[in-house]
Amino acid sequence: MPTWFFTFFCLSVLLMPHTCKGAGDNASAIVSQMRPLLHTFVEIKAWGDGAHEAIEAAFAEMSRINDLLNNYDPASEVSRINAAAGEKPVTISPETMDALRTAIRFCELSGGAFDITVGPLLKFWGFAQEEPGMFGHEPDRRAIRKAKKLVDYRAIELTEVQKEGGAFTYCARLKRPGMWIDVGAFSKGYVADRAMEVLGARGITNMLISAGGTICARGKKPDGSPWMVAVRHPRKEDSFLTFVKLSDASISTSGDYERFYEHEGKRRGHIIDPRSGMPVERMQSVSVIARSGVESDALSTALFVLGPEKGIALIEKLPDASALLITQQGEIVMSRKWPQRTVFY
Ligand code: ADP
Ligand code: MG
Repeated sequence: MPTWFFTFFCLSVLLMPHTCKGAGDNASAIVSQMRPLLHTFVEIKAWGDGAHEAIEAAFAEMSRINDLLNNYDPASEVSRINAAAGEKPVTISPETMDALRTAIRFCELSGGAFDITVGPLLKFWGFAQEEPGMFGHEPDRRAIRKAKKLVDYRAIELTEVQKEGGAFTYCARLKRPGMWIDVGAFSKGYVADRAMEVLGARGITNMLISAGGTICARGKKPDGSPWMVAVRHPRKEDSFLTFVKLSDASISTSGDYERFYEHEGKRRGHIIDPRSGMPVERMQSVSVIARSGVESDALSTALFVLGPEKGIALIEKLPDASALLITQQGEIVMSRKWPQRTVFY
């Protein structure tokens, strides 16, 4: 695994300090474990009977799903789909099918601002490598247009065939050679949701999962108080924009401060507008609170691309979703339901 994966340790959303660490047999002590996964460090906190074993099972599930989706692992199912772009369909697991269908819903919802086939543009702008940057070629309109033509989620073909006996087989195909799915904008949220399900199925009702810029919470802390998360300031590494209480919800932050490089005095960040083909310059950070990890993760990236006007219009249409956006000029924009009105910019 490349080393830059681990530099993501400086989370865009940081966990608030917690009261207990480690567990013993005390069912009301928080059990906390952190592991490298999903190109970042993932932390699971949970309490209740069987929390230790449940956390083990949750990490195992996260690894299993990540092995299917990780487009930087040539053996993953998504990499096999990418390798066969323009060729024949690839048989995939129900899990990969579900993840792709889920992600495509957000591509549709955002009108293509969020597009999981953004891979060719990421490569073009030098974000598909360990150390981001452009070496050799500099942007020219024709080359951007060429990469842009390969970005279109509508050219992902998903098929489902029911066999005799009722079982389904699932296939995926990218219609054009050179197309490339990148799961970076939604996989942390998707995989964290699967871990929450595993914990829930084992009777755990109180948990907090932190996976890079996405944090999912359920239930409360042992003293009955809600889980609290801090949203990082996009320009001051050790400062916070705000704190929010999180219960049965997820929060994700997309920022321009984690993966970027400077070019002729300009900052180029890792979120690309598939419609213009250009890295988004307008935003410093976008946080979204939503019901699930995949929803907040996909929407924070989508709103980063859409910007404040269209982004707020989208979020206001969705039940139980809210957003906090910081523009490049430091303007603070909140949707009506954003829970914490105090923001220290
Ligand atoms: P992080 O990965 O830091 O949590 P995000 O969830 O916002 O941040 O995802 C950013 C990643 O999403 C990029 O590194 C890239 O892999 C991918 N990406 C960039 N632009 C888009 C886009 N317009 N639509 C979908 N995915 C994108
Ligand atoms: Mg995201």
